[in-house]
Amino acid sequence: MPALLSADLPPTRTYARRGFYYLPTAGGTVPNPHDPDHAAPGVGQLVIACARETRKEVKVAVDAYAVQPADTGTPRQVAYLLAKLGPPAAPADVYQVEGGAYGRKCSCPAGHAGKPCKHLASVAAVIAAGGLPGPRGR
Ligand SMILES: [Zn+2]
Repeated sequence: MPALLSADLPPTRTYARRGFYYLPTAGGTVPNPHDPDHAAPGVGQLVIACARETRKEVKVAVDAYAVQPADTGTPRQVAYLLAKLGPPAAPADVYQVEGGAYGRKCSCPAGHAGKPCKHLASVAAVIAAGGLPGPRGR
């Protein structure tokens, strides 16, 4: 049965508050809140919210992703594809997040630059909470 996971993520210079929700889905598809007619392949939906407060306003960025396991060729390393769920006409950003014996990385611009990113932090937290399989062995 569904088990919603959520947690805060460490703040960054850009966003003082960050957090995620992860909901496993049945049937191998993830509903797209921006495109109800088309579900995306995946085992769960990850929603990441980032917020910052200025003197004038609060800015919030919310992104939803379909999470799909990817093959790494070894149980010592796991990889997940995060496909951004957006409007039908929008190009779909897909990032690959990896972790295990061969290190952690994400293919997003921040991850590519070697910076910690929200995708890696969220997926690591979901794995730590038992929501997704992690790497096995050493
Ligand atoms: Zn990333």
